[in-house]
Amino acid sequence: MCGIVAYLGPKNPLPIVLNGLQRLEYRGYDSAGIFLSDGLTRQTTKVVGKVSELRNELATKNKFDAQLGMGHTRWATHGEPNQLNAHPHVSNSGDLVLIHNGIIENYGVLKKELIERGYHFTSETDSEVLVNWIEEIKKTSGVKLGKAVQMALSQVVGAYGIVVHDNSNPMELIVARLGSPIAIGLEKEGFFVGSDATPFLDHTREVIYLEDNEMAILRAGKDIQVRQTDNDTLRTPTVEELKWNLENIQKGGFPHFMLKEIHEQPDAIRNTLRGRLFAEEGKIQISSFNEHQSVFTQARRIIIIACGTSWHAGLVGEYLIETFARIPVEVEYASEFRYRNPLIYSDDIVIPISQSGETADTLAALKLAKKAGAFIYGICNVVGSSISRETHSGMYTHAGPEIGVASTKAFTTQIAVLSLIAFKLAVIKETLSPKALRSHLIELDKVPTLMEQLIAEKEQVEEIAKIIHTATNCLYLGRGYNFPVALEGALKLKEISYIHAEGYPAAEMKHGPIALIDEAMPVVVIATRKGHYEKIVSNIQEIKSRKGIVIAIVSKGDTSVKKIADYCIEIPESSECFTPLYATLPLQFLSYYIAVLRECNVDQPRNLAKSVTVE
Ligand code: GLU
Repeated sequence: MCGIVAYLGPKNPLPIVLNGLQRLEYRGYDSAGIFLSDGLTRQTTKVVGKVSELRNELATKNKFDAQLGMGHTRWATHGEPNQLNAHPHVSNSGDLVLIHNGIIENYGVLKKELIERGYHFTSETDSEVLVNWIEEIKKTSGVKLGKAVQMALSQVVGAYGIVVHDNSNPMELIVARLGSPIAIGLEKEGFFVGSDATPFLDHTREVIYLEDNEMAILRAGKDIQVRQTDNDTLRTPTVEELKWNLENIQKGGFPHFMLKEIHEQPDAIRNTLRGRLFAEEGKIQISSFNEHQSVFTQARRIIIIACGTSWHAGLVGEYLIETFARIPVEVEYASEFRYRNPLIYSDDIVIPISQSGETADTLAALKLAKKAGAFIYGICNVVGSSISRETHSGMYTHAGPEIGVASTKAFTTQIAVLSLIAFKLAVIKETLSPKALRSHLIELDKVPTLMEQLIAEKEQVEEIAKIIHTATNCLYLGRGYNFPVALEGALKLKEISYIHAEGYPAAEMKHGPIALIDEAMPVVVIATRKGHYEKIVSNIQEIKSRKGIVIAIVSKGDTSVKKIADYCIEIPESSECFTPLYATLPLQFLSYYIAVLRECNVDQPRNLAKSVTVE
């Protein structure tokens, strides 16, 4: 996910694009770039880092009266965040310029084809492939840019929001979208384009939102034409009036980034699975596994190292990998692992997990394991981060930038990646029949849609929050796959509402925490139908006998728990291994609503920082 901004018209595009990019930095900020043109003079500037760096760099350059500006603030998916990979990307002839938000999944095939036809590439991005693919079609078919874009996109698999410009036609811009948002702002003789409307909010209130599979041809001082990309049907666009203020739009209309990011989870998981999961075929495609086939075939043990929420995801990973691939897994706090002279063997696979890829303890533990000869396979969200650079190989979660300090979508996408790893290892180790594999993959494929339905029922969680938000302590219980979810639920509550909370394996309750239970103690119990159901029902009875307030997360249609628990939240029925992906959501909402009711700073809780880059 990144931010794109463009302007074509009579005003000076430079401040419009720069200020617009700054407003879109919530979408990504690892590198930035801008293209300016007056039809004759063209200037491209790219920097590593934030838009402020781009601003500084531009201050050193010659000024000229441009009529067109295209800018990009990147959140790398393909290729490190360096200057060469920053957008805009220019085609081989120098004629076409493109900014892109999204992922071109079949870029490898297209790139190979282009190289065979004599093209060369300066970046590692999928986006540079796209601009050259458009150029090749334009040249060989002798069509105009709009048609070439349309033809090129019909051969592209993936997601995109793009702006393309042809230097030989200075007064025209082509924009298109599939899966990545595009807003077009209108003024008398000019056009604004943005990943959302924030870049042009102070210039115009008139906006057209492109739909998926649509493109628009913008001609300065003339008109706008909106059409389908897969056929030539024209659409008369509806011009909407912007009513939001800036703050609202950056958070996508949500009052907090955390709430926005909770809602983004279905899409984030779609991005994690895209190009990797082929459910109907019963296949998982992980290129790094093919490259290191022998490491995975010979692996005798996996050690997961992580901190905080990522450590909880690691615990779910332990259940997944041991269940399906039958490889022993140890999950370690990176901070403990690195200081206790651990036993590490050369046939160990060490998996560091970190959202930011900068967590200091995880990075140090990784280096230690690498020195000891283990194979390091990282799971990170931020492309090009320190951890991703230190590993031998790995997978990105592709969750998009996470701004709220309390991690939400990073956790569920890490679990999604660990599920893919577990199933892929099961294929390698032949521990799962193709039939069972396919049925699990089909279930995994449905997760984003079912998550959407679950999110639509969030009001019931808000009602429960109203009842328990004054509590001073809270207990979270779960078994099996949902024990780590209980830990994560308790952590979320502690982090943002400052209520003391403990997560426990449900059966361990009798070994101590049960002493805390009285009529003032809310106990959140994950009691889904698959997975030790009867035992959990007994645990709930034990809590009720001591007058605790039971909030149970149950499978859809549950009847037994409903009879004894005070409040029940239903989640979709699924195989036990996928219940963490669902059970986590109501727990995130619960801590969010409680924190709001307690008037806490949800996005920036006291004493915490987003990525812990110190020991
Ligand atoms: N895939 C493109 C890149 O890595 C665009 C990334 C984005 O949308 O953030 O440069």
